[in-house]
Amino acid sequence: MILDGQDHVVDRFSQILAGGRLASTYLFVGPGGVGKRLFARHLAKALFCLRTDPTALDACGDCQSCLLMAAGNHPDLLEIGLRKEKRSLLLEQFIGPKERRFREGLCHDLALKPSLASRRVAIIDHADTFSAETANCLLKTLEEPPPGALLILIGTSEARQLPTIRSRAQVLRFSPLPSNKVEQILLEQKIAGSPSMAHDIAQLAGGSLDQAREMAREDLWELRSACLQLLSQPALDSVALATRVHEFSQNAGKEAPPRRAALIAAIGLCREHFRQQLRSNPDSAAASVLMARIDRCLSAEQQVDRNAHPQTVTQCWADDLAKGERGVGHP
Ligand SMILES: [Zn+2]
Repeated sequence: MILDGQDHVVDRFSQILAGGRLASTYLFVGPGGVGKRLFARHLAKALFCLRTDPTALDACGDCQSCLLMAAGNHPDLLEIGLRKEKRSLLLEQFIGPKERRFREGLCHDLALKPSLASRRVAIIDHADTFSAETANCLLKTLEEPPPGALLILIGTSEARQLPTIRSRAQVLRFSPLPSNKVEQILLEQKIAGSPSMAHDIAQLAGGSLDQAREMAREDLWELRSACLQLLSQPALDSVALATRVHEFSQNAGKEAPPRRAALIAAIGLCREHFRQQLRSNPDSAAASVLMARIDRCLSAEQQVDRNAHPQTVTQCWADDLAKGERGVGHP
């Protein structure tokens, strides 16, 4: 199996290749850590392989091309993504730095004659972070791709893509991984310290291995125990919950983006806790309260994502959770 849990993607590409209908631009969307980049590289490897049939989605593994792919330095594969500490893809990654405009960068390199394979492939990760200006630079390449060129853009959802990009790409949706698969990988790769931890994380990770890795972090796991303890009290102490969550986000760094990400992760783990409770007890009297709490967490996560004041969001969120709880006893 090339890719666990994504049979529909593998089948679709097998058909596309067999029918000789490969488009020039694809947009892969889905949760982080479900194999989008892995599959993009596999597709490039299959297209580059000097021995296998170009209409098949497989590679021999030992021709010169396959060996270069395995070593991570095939000259016809161009890969770019978010640079360290940057929040969006940069113009210069596509059209070269100011002093070398249009003489470097992905758009330039993709138009060069392939060195070894019959075509060049570009994989653009973090497509969610395109600015309008940068996306416009890619426009010409998307509309008139160099002969044989293949562009694969990778993002988390279709809704997060700029219309310029979305309208010019064939979209492929990757599914969340089954939780037993996530559990297995967490144990195999020793990301989780014990089978019970792997099981708990897999239940909470929403089928995303990136999220599972994030949750396995010691500080987040400690936060989860602390939050779960607060949430299991007969009367929820909203101030204590907000304080604990706020502290956690402050500890994530000095900059706003990591703090916001930490806050979203903290609220998300409470949401998953409610979801799990709801799943194990769907008909209980508390079900409507749990559903309201899940909605409240989702709206708080969205508010943080949209740059609302984090401390206010956190306190209002915790207060509303506590209110919902009082409603359980007094319907
Ligand atoms: Zn090969």
